[in-house]
Amino acid sequence: MQSKAVVVGGGICGLMAALLLKRNFDEVTLIEQSNEVGGLFRSVKDEHGAFYDMGSHIPNATGIEELDEMLFGAHSERTEHWNVIKKLKSGNYFGGSWDLTSPFANSKNLREDVYLKGCGELIQSTNFSQERLILPYCTETLGETFTHHIIRPILEKLYGRHTDLSQLTMGAGLFGFTRILAFDEDVANMLKELPVFDSKLGYQAETHFKARQKKDASSTPDYFYPTSQVGIQSWVDYLKKKVEQSGVEIRCNCKIASLETRGRKVEKVFIQGDSKAIECDLLFWSAPPFIALKALGLPVVSNKPELRTAIVFHLNLNKALLNQQSHYLWVWDKFSDIFRLTLYPNLNPKSDFHTLSAEILCRPEEVDSFQLSMVVEQLKEMEIIAPEAECLSHIKQVIHNTFPVPTLEFEENNDKNYLTLESSIDNIIISGRSGGKQWRQADVLVAAYNEINQYLLAE
Ligand SMILES: Cc1cc2nc3c(=O)[nH]c(=O)nc-3n(C[C@H](O)[C@H](O)[C@H](O)COP(=O)(O)OP(=O)(O)OC[C@H]3O[C@@H](n4cnc5c(N)ncnc54)[C@H](O)[C@@H]3O)c2cc1C
Repeated sequence: MQSKAVVVGGGICGLMAALLLKRNFDEVTLIEQSNEVGGLFRSVKDEHGAFYDMGSHIPNATGIEELDEMLFGAHSERTEHWNVIKKLKSGNYFGGSWDLTSPFANSKNLREDVYLKGCGELIQSTNFSQERLILPYCTETLGETFTHHIIRPILEKLYGRHTDLSQLTMGAGLFGFTRILAFDEDVANMLKELPVFDSKLGYQAETHFKARQKKDASSTPDYFYPTSQVGIQSWVDYLKKKVEQSGVEIRCNCKIASLETRGRKVEKVFIQGDSKAIECDLLFWSAPPFIALKALGLPVVSNKPELRTAIVFHLNLNKALLNQQSHYLWVWDKFSDIFRLTLYPNLNPKSDFHTLSAEILCRPEEVDSFQLSMVVEQLKEMEIIAPEAECLSHIKQVIHNTFPVPTLEFEENNDKNYLTLESSIDNIIISGRSGGKQWRQADVLVAAYNEINQYLLAE
């Protein structure tokens, strides 16, 4: 008898899962609700032919050889398709100036009296925090002053001034800003010998960071950006081609109508507007779990979090960017609405364009209040672009429902839905960022890879 797997969700997780499953199943069908696969890893083109990425741009190796070969090709052919980035250059803007050596906000950019008070509190906080809420966590680890002057404004920028910040969980810290820079670089280096300080301070000198890596026998993974001029879309195109060539059927513009079970197994998947069922021995689910529960007729805990909208301003300028080294930059300073910048010529030195993307998070109804002129002005003020630079072309891309405002209630309800689904169905793998267990690209892919292999081993 033919074995059949169905993958729901055609993001990077679903594409990888389909490829892996096709090695073990005779038939694999990938179902995607939108008109194209790729999820958040997609690119758009403006009228001048410049490409920009949608939300995620710079994938990194997972450290699992088989998986990395599947995702990025054999070592021998990698440099042909990828700019392999050994050290991803980041930096951040905070307190009115750039620090191009670290992604963490530098507390020394605060007013001197505030800085000194903050250092006093931070050094006295010598306990690990068990807090699940981000503000109490930061107050316990960084102290009240740094939490008030650094963390609060960042949370307001990412989750909105209207949001009750006291309800936000540690999930709100997904961009890593709960670490900060403080003290002189040698003092910070010594303090980081102690695990409790290691978790809240960043290194300020490359030599210290490298010495630590040597001591831990650890290394930073390779990051990848396509050599083609079409942005990260070429990764999605590459994977899609591989998936199709392996014999997987990709069905876009499809919504799940229902899932039919026998006992504790999903046997048939029905698509809206199609009465013919897709047979199923294994269901790999990378869409939100509550959708599977609804399609199964199982109880769903109503979970309506506020979902943040991302506005990505993609700019094509008539002058070279002033920053010619950083791949991407965080803007933690509250003066700007932008939270992240991607500088394409630094990712792809062969690029014909002077392009960048500036990301802003907001509520859906706030989209119109963010204008190109304001973004350009802020970029000039931060000296990312020259004062006389002009936009040759641009796209204001609006992506709704990017990620939820993480409250305890949301996370608990998500867990309940996840558990109901997991405990009701035996032939399902619930994965991807929507499952809520992982969020970063490499973490999502490693988890999915391990889950699939464990499932196959147990069969
Ligand atoms: C603003 C933003 C910035 C990010 N930045 C980074 C970063 O810097 N580094 C990093 O490592 N990660 C980053 N991430 C996370 C990264 O994008 C994810 O790890 C990655 O996209 C996960 O892939 P996925 O396939 O699980 O999810 P997605 O990319 O979200 O794909 C899910 C797919 O499922 C489809 N789908 C949903 N519901 C259904 C349904 N009912 N039926 C069929 N299909 C469905 C969707 O249309 C989509 O194509 C960022 C995410 C966001 C939102």
